[in-house]
Amino acid sequence: MTDTPLARYADLVGRTVFVSGGATGIGADLVTAFHGQGADVVFVDIDAEGGEALRDRLASQGDAPLFLPCDVTDTPALREAMATAEGRGGGLDVLINNAGNDTRMPLGDVTEGDWARILDVNLKHQFFAAQTACGWMRARGRGSIVNFGSVAPEIPVGNLAVYNACKAAVRGLTRSIAKDMGGHGIRCNAILPGAILTPRQRALWYTDQSAIDAMTALQCLPRELCGRDVAEMALFLASDVSAACTAQDFIVDGGIV
Ligand code: NDP
Repeated sequence: MTDTPLARYADLVGRTVFVSGGATGIGADLVTAFHGQGADVVFVDIDAEGGEALRDRLASQGDAPLFLPCDVTDTPALREAMATAEGRGGGLDVLINNAGNDTRMPLGDVTEGDWARILDVNLKHQFFAAQTACGWMRARGRGSIVNFGSVAPEIPVGNLAVYNACKAAVRGLTRSIAKDMGGHGIRCNAILPGAILTPRQRALWYTDQSAIDAMTALQCLPRELCGRDVAEMALFLASDVSAACTAQDFIVDGGIV
């Protein structure tokens, strides 16, 4: 964690930003960071209690972000929530496809039902959210979409074969959207986080200091990474400051080599 204040981007003031999976983890840092820029944030999550708690917490620091409970694997419900964002201000400016689930399971245990469920939450919604956003953004000739991949397929992290397949596919999805939509002024990039020590990661995997030390020892920068590190990258990619950047992966992993 650095003590430096978050970067500020004047063009994000008043921009409408839609964040999926924004109630907890990295998503909560994304919502907080965009809200802090003065953006009009709409976020969805399956965790209604967590989403409402974050909304209420941020309401004490200015206009509350809008939280909509939503399972992003339910495409009609996702589209409906996004339409609410599109109906605010000048329409949807930024889409952050953050929701995901990294539940680990041994390769031999994966059923067809698991396969479908893991693809739905880690890949399908990123496509349909982007497709929906592009329909509106191309009419205005601008927009920024940020997908979420992971460095996990490159390591690769074990017991995550289907998740890793989804996260590897995000690269192709991102480049394809960027190619198809660049002529309409829409940019599409991916953030690939490394080991970000969210509450879930600390509860499940990095349960003691030795596990954290083992992870940070793999990084060139041997410090704990947090959601804020990822949020800084998302702000940059959402802002017009990154106007020449599209079809790229931006790795935020402290330099795992
Ligand atoms: P978390 O599990 O901590 O948070 C994800 C949020 O998304 C949770 O609030 C979760 O709710 C919600 N969510 C899960 N499924 C759905 C759904 N079907 N509909 C709506 N919301 C849903 O994840 P992280 O913050 O760690 O990860 C955020 C993104 O970053 C993900 O795409 C992840 O794959 C990626 N990433 C994270 C890394 C890390 O080290 N943390 C490393 C590499 C990539 P609930 O808690 O109820 O499931």
